[in-house]
Amino acid sequence: MRIRPDLDDLPAYAPGKTFPGAIKLASNEVTEGPLPSVVDAIADAASSLNRYPDNAIVELTATLAKKLGVTEDEVQVGCGSVILCQNLILVTCEPGDEVVFGWRSFETYPLATRAVHATPVPVPLTGDNVYDLDAMAAAITDRTRLIFVCNPNNPTGTVVGADDLRAFLRKVPSDVVVALDEAYYEYMRPGPAQAYDALELHREFANLVVLRTFSKAYGLAGLRVGYAIADPQVVTALRKVHVPFSVTSLSQRAAIACLAADDELLARTDAVVAERTRVTARLRELGYRVPDTQANFVWLDLGEAALDFAGQAIDNRVVVRPFAGDGVRVTVTVPEENDAFLAFAEKFADKFA
Ligand code: PMP
Repeated sequence: MRIRPDLDDLPAYAPGKTFPGAIKLASNEVTEGPLPSVVDAIADAASSLNRYPDNAIVELTATLAKKLGVTEDEVQVGCGSVILCQNLILVTCEPGDEVVFGWRSFETYPLATRAVHATPVPVPLTGDNVYDLDAMAAAITDRTRLIFVCNPNNPTGTVVGADDLRAFLRKVPSDVVVALDEAYYEYMRPGPAQAYDALELHREFANLVVLRTFSKAYGLAGLRVGYAIADPQVVTALRKVHVPFSVTSLSQRAAIACLAADDELLARTDAVVAERTRVTARLRELGYRVPDTQANFVWLDLGEAALDFAGQAIDNRVVVRPFAGDGVRVTVTVPEENDAFLAFAEKFADKFA
């Protein structure tokens, strides 16, 4: 069969694997299951599963628009923000166009770029594992159509400063779309030099698209719901490539129920933030190199030892996410799970730290 030969060396997206009895700290999920009100909403929606979902996602879109103070034509919901990353590439790039992003960062950026015959332009992070916005601005060419800024960055957890972000946006030509991927937004507790309001930036810079998700702090990873806040021109294009009915009725109802329980769900992030401070401090005490993180995970800068570390962790029933030759990302969850990881990290500190 004729399959595009340029896909031969394109790896498939490979999430962390788990097994029964393992402590899974590989996918930045929350450990707690959905709230009873969310389960009820899903059960209620289940009685209409013989019908297609609302393709226009009207109620969820309206609820989000109201909450965020934007218009409904500035919101596009997708089955996970990952599809919105892909669709942004699809609506901005023709073959040979370029997508700029920091590296290492979210693996979807290069994969989805290559899938549409566009060219990934990965720009190395700074020595502190932070997006290098100056180098990214310098990487813009007349073929650049899209730029991803992952903030906090997956997998390092680092953030760019507010002034740096604003200065960068001023440098980007106004016809180049910038996707500010805030999948971990709810875990950010920025200092004064880091704090920015993405929605205010979106009002100031029409080419800025903000991406968020229900998979992390809202605990709906299994239902796949994310959203983009963007200029109506971008949203109109995203709607053209939206896979029909891809946001299920269960997902739509569950996301609305989550928004209704916003306070309770967001309060949970405080516990994760306290735990990440504790985990980071302990790992540093043990001698590991761990950058400051604003997400629900920590990054261990292990270089060539990354795969070995993750393999040993599996032998100790802890599943973490290695990035070969680079480092390991470990989700921060509840104290018992974090303690299990820290016990492993301590046991192997002589070898890896
Ligand atoms: N962006 C980033 C930076 C992520 O880490 C993830 C999830 N790993 C996503 C987007 C996609 O999340 P989802 O599709 O579950 O909304």
